[in-house]
Amino acid sequence: MKMLLSRDVIAARVQEMGRQIAADYQGREPHLVGVLKGACPFVTDLARSIELPLTMDFIALSSYGAATKSSGEVKLVKDLDQGLEGRDLLVVEDIVDTGLTLNYLLNVLRARGPRTLKVAALLSKPSRRLVQVGVDYIGFTIEDLFVVGYGLDYNEKYRNLADIVVYGG
Ligand code: IMP
Repeated sequence: MKMLLSRDVIAARVQEMGRQIAADYQGREPHLVGVLKGACPFVTDLARSIELPLTMDFIALSSYGAATKSSGEVKLVKDLDQGLEGRDLLVVEDIVDTGLTLNYLLNVLRARGPRTLKVAALLSKPSRRLVQVGVDYIGFTIEDLFVVGYGLDYNEKYRNLADIVVYGG
């Protein structure tokens, strides 16, 4: 499979994102919410590169399948352990593709009353967007390619690859 982003390139960019986030949240305590399972490696690396006190929680979503794909309606498979009222919430996603999943998730989380709400995504495919959704921190903008590795899967496989590669490429 064709290499798109090597582990070194990813690590350097995640460090940079962490520094930027630490600067933006100076004096505050961000609450990172990682979206399982894809964002797992990203959120743990990112959290370690943010030199601020912070807290973390996880949420797992699953798509309702093809019939409701266009609405982006998702099922909460695992909800958060902690409430969001008054917190500085930073949602951490692996990839924003059509934007439907993230849009739905943000509506659910916004309703829980965080003080601020921002999004960090490792990858973004803007050419695929069906709904405009604000992403505050983007690691890499990529073409319309299906990629795996560093948490991203194809049928639950390849999440453990250290590099991000083009599936079938
Ligand atoms: P969206 O609702 O279309 O933005 O879909 C987002 C979700 O689709 C991501 O969280 C991934 O789980 C999955 N996804 C989208 N593109 C890719 C890809 O290139 N590789 C692996 N998963 C992807």
